[in-house]
Amino acid sequence: MSANRVIGVDLGGTKILAGVIEDGTVTQTVEHPTPITSQDALLDGLAKAVRELPLDGIAAVGFGIPSRIDHVHGIALGSVNTPLRDVPFEREMEARLNLPVAVENDATCAAYAEYVHGVGRGTNDFVMLTLGTGVGGGVVSGGSLYRAWTELGHMVIVEDGEPCQGACSGRGHVEAYCSGTAANRLARQTLGPDATAHDLIDQSHPVLATIGHHLGVTIGSLVNIFGAERFAIGGGFGVAAFDQLVPAARTAVLREALPTSGQAVEIECALLGADAGLIGAGLVALEAL
Ligand SMILES: [Zn+2]
Repeated sequence: MSANRVIGVDLGGTKILAGVIEDGTVTQTVEHPTPITSQDALLDGLAKAVRELPLDGIAAVGFGIPSRIDHVHGIALGSVNTPLRDVPFEREMEARLNLPVAVENDATCAAYAEYVHGVGRGTNDFVMLTLGTGVGGGVVSGGSLYRAWTELGHMVIVEDGEPCQGACSGRGHVEAYCSGTAANRLARQTLGPDATAHDLIDQSHPVLATIGHHLGVTIGSLVNIFGAERFAIGGGFGVAAFDQLVPAARTAVLREALPTSGQAVEIECALLGADAGLIGAGLVALEAL
């Protein structure tokens, strides 16, 4: 058995992506729609995706899931956009797969992958924000993965602002302003009922600067908390709209971040694309061995 051969699984709100990772390289992947009818259907669907990959010589399986994690007990505490709630995730998946299992928040996995193999390389203090269906985040602090909840998408940036989505009761959270879902809503308000975020991006529409401003306010606050020297913006919407979000974001960062970090902080587009989550899940599985 090669201790370097693991499976990483990235659970998204719409799809499960699983892959074999050997020495940091993804060699084979499978993809399925995410079952959202029940928690059991979701756990079974995850196991099914893993079993479609060659399990020979696999040392462990890492899952990146959109949930807060109780790391001591391997419990998925709750997810805004999938039916996971207080489930002993590691135990349930080990029983289904008969392999060692590690679990971490999906955006934290993506951040770790970018730190080790992508745009975060060479930094010590690094934050990634993923702008997709929701907004996720991960933090590397002092060269180590910060294994807290890091639900950066549910940070309040507008007091009593727009309602958040899914199972979140909050208002004015980053997710309500900077997610692809929020961008779709802005597109409908701006261009008409059939418009999507893609239309805003295709037109380089100036209204995207309002999302960029909210993103910059978020980054400015995170600079003040973590002293991060570089930020990566990932996720489907984040990567597609990156060039149109960043100018307004930089202006807001200059105002909100304490001097002189606002001038110094780098904002970069994520490099690893759709594989970041599963690569990071594999790294987490390797570290747990
Ligand atoms: Zn929220």
